[in-house]
Amino acid sequence: MAATDVLKPDHAANRRHFIFNDEHEQLRESIRAFVLKELRPHAEEWEESTFPDWVFQRMGELGLLGLSYPEQYGGQGGDYYCNLVLGEEIVHSNCGGLAMGIAVHTDMATPPIHAFGTEEQKQAYLVPAIRGEKISCLGITEPDAGSDVSAIKTRAVRDGDEWVINGSKTYITNGHRADFIVLVTKTDPDAGYDGFTLFIVDMDAPGVIREKKLQKLGMHASDTALLAFQDVRVPDSAVLGEVGKGFYHIMWELQGERLIGAAGATASAQAVFDKTLQYATERQAFGRPIGKFQVIRHKFAEMATKIESSRQLTYTTAWRFANGEYPVREISMAKLYASRIACEVADECLQIHGGAGYMKEYGIERVWRDLRLNRIGAGTDEIMLDVIGRSYGL
Ligand SMILES: Cc1cc2nc3c(=O)[nH]c(=O)nc-3n(C[C@H](O)[C@H](O)[C@H](O)COP(=O)(O)OP(=O)(O)OC[C@H]3O[C@@H](n4cnc5c(N)ncnc54)[C@H](O)[C@@H]3O)c2cc1C
Repeated sequence: MAATDVLKPDHAANRRHFIFNDEHEQLRESIRAFVLKELRPHAEEWEESTFPDWVFQRMGELGLLGLSYPEQYGGQGGDYYCNLVLGEEIVHSNCGGLAMGIAVHTDMATPPIHAFGTEEQKQAYLVPAIRGEKISCLGITEPDAGSDVSAIKTRAVRDGDEWVINGSKTYITNGHRADFIVLVTKTDPDAGYDGFTLFIVDMDAPGVIREKKLQKLGMHASDTALLAFQDVRVPDSAVLGEVGKGFYHIMWELQGERLIGAAGATASAQAVFDKTLQYATERQAFGRPIGKFQVIRHKFAEMATKIESSRQLTYTTAWRFANGEYPVREISMAKLYASRIACEVADECLQIHGGAGYMKEYGIERVWRDLRLNRIGAGTDEIMLDVIGRSYGL
């Protein structure tokens, strides 16, 4: 064999994954340009103040809040992968709280309206949500029930043509700014999983109380609310989906939410990896760039392998989900794995930065704090493990 025939690895090659086509790549470029120009410059300021509502309006104008919704509701008519692209690119805002607030709107609170809502509900809530004129939030968690959704106490009781809602919800993202909430309630406490019903409730309805803004470890650009519902009266038309089917509706919603979470966590891990790789080529110690120490080189190798595994698992699972399967086991695996490796990568990157990693100005400590949420929100690691374990009949 001639020397010229020897194949050399092309590490710079970057063939896109088969789930994406040219349109996705164009979308990716345009979202990245918008995020870098209009969002990222404000990241520091929004860490202090929470991000402003105009972000929803601006993203609505650009069509970014309805990428996969039908055009008849003002959406872009794209596929599920468009949402993944948004979830990945918004990471470059460098503002975890903003990415979370937007994801709650696009991939958590509005999908059940599109999937289960009446035409009237779609016109009243989905259409303005896609335009960015109405902001949404999703209320599952309560002070006494998080992982165990079946233990929620918020009750909706029928009274003539109306329902009366009493209870409380906590840790609600967008809860202070939202115009409406997709609310999980119990309508028949004796009916087990068949006793839950979803409602769409206007946040300015009498009896809806936005209690304190909760202070948290990270995601400071987002607002997180404790909410109370005191004799809130809503019409029958506020029921979302079927009475008694709310538990199943919300479990479906959680699958999409977890996949987008996995994509976002993996993209965040990649972003902090890239930033740290750059640092490791510049920072000198003992006469060489720190990246030239084998220990550090191997840290990058370990991280890169985990990030790539996470990405492949997420994309392949998204492909199954988008093609009509309901791969709950693999979605749980993707959510679990992506959340864990994102935290591990952020921790290693902080370590590689040394003291700089601990300093605010380098932004690594913020990523480290923000990503910690992924192992808790949308189903904890332990709950994901339980779903996976149970899927084997255990
Ligand atoms: C910043 C932030 C934003 C959020 N946004 C929203 C939102 O917009 N809407 C919303 O509804 N919720 C939201 N949440 C709530 C989030 O989904 C819950 O915190 C999460 O589901 C865990 O519930 P919990 O906090 O009540 O923990 P718990 O359920 O009390 O769990 C405590 C611990 O026990 C473990 N555990 C519980 N059950 C089991 C079991 N069966 N086996 C093994 N271990 C178990 C858990 O894994 C955890 O480690 C948010 C949370 C945070 C922190």
